[in-house]
Amino acid sequence: TTTPRKFFVGGNWKMNGSTKSIQTLVDTLNKAHLPVEQVDVVVAPPAPYLALVRSTLDSKLGVSAQNVYAAKSGAFTGETSPLFLKDLDIHWTLTGHSERRQYFRESSEYVAEKTKFALDQGLSVIACIGESLIERETGATNAVLASQLEPLAAALTAADWARVVLAYEPVWAIGTGKVATPAQAQDAHKYIRSWLAKHVSPAVAQATRIIYGGSVTAGNCGELARMGDIDGFLVGGASLKPEFTQIVKARL
Ligand code: PGA
Repeated sequence: TTTPRKFFVGGNWKMNGSTKSIQTLVDTLNKAHLPVEQVDVVVAPPAPYLALVRSTLDSKLGVSAQNVYAAKSGAFTGETSPLFLKDLDIHWTLTGHSERRQYFRESSEYVAEKTKFALDQGLSVIACIGESLIERETGATNAVLASQLEPLAAALTAADWARVVLAYEPVWAIGTGKVATPAQAQDAHKYIRSWLAKHVSPAVAQATRIIYGGSVTAGNCGELARMGDIDGFLVGGASLKPEFTQIVKARL
């Protein structure tokens, strides 16, 4: 028997907002009566606003960091410990977002190390993978996805995977308005799931949520949400707008 995967929608606010705009956004989310029985909703504010959001957002909605460090404490100026997040009652972090890979030179090995460390501290993780435009155009998509998954599979136990959501985010679709077609996204998600079945286990492949990110909007989320291997979304730009609540309901 197979358990259905609960739909998951994350909002990645990136490096945007102010006390005022974030209070407005939290207010909108609190008043939206989101269908949390059917959908896990998690928002990722910038680090300085994590405490504000956690203390004001409806407790049925999750809060995530956008990045975390792989150490508990010490002389690591500027970094965020997973223990800070736990102390703030924040249970999620992103790892491996393409912007971190690109601008902060995070390798897949380092992303796996951070992911494992965060999991070991009791956090849940939205781990991001995805190919660039040149990689897609040269037919390297699946090989790139496999190379990003390999260090994760090497670092994580079967039990760890229960607290991981994988986000497939093709770099060419992020912030560009060029959303992947439902078929392109489904193909990649299906490949990721088959990779997990072969290299981790069929049970983990069946249970792990694989969510799509890259120019998701209220207009395109419905069609994507109907694909069999798309279990939700990681939303950037549209997560700052009222339409985020429509994306949360994409599968309803
Ligand atoms: P976007 O960003 O929705 O603005 O394309 C997605 C992401 O980077 O998570």
